[in-house]
Amino acid sequence: NREMLLIPGPTPVVDEIYAALSSETYAHTDPRFVKIFKNSLELTKKLFHTEGEVFVISGSGTLAMEIALINTVAPGEKLLVISHGYFGDRFIPLAKAFGIQVETLQAEWGQHIKKELVEEKLAEGGFKAVTVTHVDTSTGVMAHLEDLVPVVKKAGALFILDGVCAAAATEEDMQKTYGHPDYKLDVVFTGSQKAIGVPPGLAILAFGPKALAAREAMPSVLGYYTDIKNWVSIMNDPGKYYATPPVNMIYAFNKGMEIVMAEGLTTRYRRHHALGRAVRAGLGVYGMKPLASEEVAAPTLSCILYPEGVNDAEFRSRLAAKGMVIAGSLASLAGKAFRIGHMGNVTEEMFVKAIELVGETLKEMGTDANIGEAVDKFKEIYHSA
Ligand code: PMP
Repeated sequence: NREMLLIPGPTPVVDEIYAALSSETYAHTDPRFVKIFKNSLELTKKLFHTEGEVFVISGSGTLAMEIALINTVAPGEKLLVISHGYFGDRFIPLAKAFGIQVETLQAEWGQHIKKELVEEKLAEGGFKAVTVTHVDTSTGVMAHLEDLVPVVKKAGALFILDGVCAAAATEEDMQKTYGHPDYKLDVVFTGSQKAIGVPPGLAILAFGPKALAAREAMPSVLGYYTDIKNWVSIMNDPGKYYATPPVNMIYAFNKGMEIVMAEGLTTRYRRHHALGRAVRAGLGVYGMKPLASEEVAAPTLSCILYPEGVNDAEFRSRLAAKGMVIAGSLASLAGKAFRIGHMGNVTEEMFVKAIELVGETLKEMGTDANIGEAVDKFKEIYHSA
């Protein structure tokens, strides 16, 4: 019996993925491995509907952030960071490390940046790209792409989407046009450990035609392992060697992507959105309020404020003792809120159990909790969506 790992990534890993992970390690040039790698890349293309290239590389989400940035924005060029929390902010030091000029629009935690503000900022001119964190894992805020993509693209900037806490749980379709044939996402990336449900270890990126052209236009970039030009031929012919691929992680990733596709993207997205709403509604019965309003609340995780008098460390350690692991909050919210992930290969049963365990824990700590009502609310919302 495994723990219920309900932090916002890594997420629970199912048996089929563990089995794939522990399969025999073939040579990275062995046709049997190459076939699996190719298949996983095909499925990645389908996930993002990209007309460009995909890259699956050893590393974490932060490596993907770095690859996205340095291959599109040259030192000295201007980048606008739209930040809804801790992970949006991470682009600031990252860009500075490469001599990129950064400007930032930072939302108050729990709020989102409205398009008018972005429009106004971009009117200053000269921005090469804009980064948007689809779901900021620190706040549980989801960016409104339908508002942001048109204003960014109208200004002629590249749209870089951090999909680490969103890909495979909500739509990130690079062929989708947002009100004009040219208004599309240019770069989208994620890590293996979130809604794809694979252990941490892979940076997964998709570059659209305009982003690839941006790389082509730069004579060089400040990287070698991180230069996508070195990877394009490998990703199109994975039997070639550039840097040894993580063979077993690719097995696991391929299995993870097969599970995603077997569920179907539309079904998987609908399930995540329903689960997010249902978890928040169920916990709401206990008087627990999400930091973000439903208008911007994410399908993948929720940041939940503690009711009066509930101690964070005690609450989480009591839950951990019952086999349910959730995360604390970051920065100024530390101790005041917890974060619960509801993404990947998770089930309704897990969350019924989670809501029961939260209720029992609140009771042990002297707070009233109507467990039956909370579970009913959860189920009602989950099935009505
Ligand atoms: N972006 C977002 C939205 C994230 O949630 C995370 C990780 N929590 C990262 C980037 C960084 O990914 P990693 O920790 O895998 O480097």
